[in-house]
Amino acid sequence: MRRPLLVANWKMNKDRDGARAYARALLTALEAAPPSETEVVVAPPFTLLETLGTAFEGSRVGLAAQNVSAEVQGAHTGEISAEMLSELGCQYCLVGHSERRANQGETSTQVAEKAAALLEAGLRPIICVGETGAEREAGRTAEIVGQQLEMSLPRISTPTANHLVVAYEPVWAIGTGVTATPEQAQEVQALLRERLRTILGESAEDVRLQYGGSVGPHTIQALMNQPDIDGALIGSAALDPETFEQMIANTHWENTSP
Ligand code: PEP
Repeated sequence: MRRPLLVANWKMNKDRDGARAYARALLTALEAAPPSETEVVVAPPFTLLETLGTAFEGSRVGLAAQNVSAEVQGAHTGEISAEMLSELGCQYCLVGHSERRANQGETSTQVAEKAAALLEAGLRPIICVGETGAEREAGRTAEIVGQQLEMSLPRISTPTANHLVVAYEPVWAIGTGVTATPEQAQEVQALLRERLRTILGESAEDVRLQYGGSVGPHTIQALMNQPDIDGALIGSAALDPETFEQMIANTHWENTSP
């Protein structure tokens, strides 16, 4: 069974006091909430990983980084390795977010190398893929996301499929307030699952597929009801701890996946 996974991507936001206040508010809200199957993870900037790692220690909230180096160690000024993230208490790390693909020119080949480095260090990569608005309008969604997925998967002999997470994030939906409809998202997520079956065989059923792009408290449940949506990657709406908790509370798991 694929456990639902909600991840808050803070991007380059918040300072230390803000992070501590967020952690307190989120933990308080979660304590008051009924028990839930949903796995909850926060991905702050590198500088706040230690602060949040300490604040969330012993709680149900996990920690993710937003980027990693593909290298293990050495002369890589400004880079941070998967082992370093592990030492800070990270269990997950985003790779290939569309902002990094667009602004830092990150390629799918680099994303695959980063994902492999994370798996080697015992972390779980969240591999992001998604088409631009122009690509969708040109009818190229399946081609673009299929290609990104195939090239971004780590080239390791036995991928531990249940450690892999793939986030479908249409670029036209990120930070725009325009969410893909549940049907639009499911269409692409089903295609991603099908590609994963071709590559990984039966293990594809263990890979969690998230949707990301302007998800909010009112849109999350309809998305999560789709058979190939196992979670959400959330930006702006999750910057507020109460809104994030509301989204966690609004996520009822009705999926019948294996
Ligand atoms: C994101 O950047 O991963 C994201 C989904 O952002 P937003 O929810 O703000 O669209």
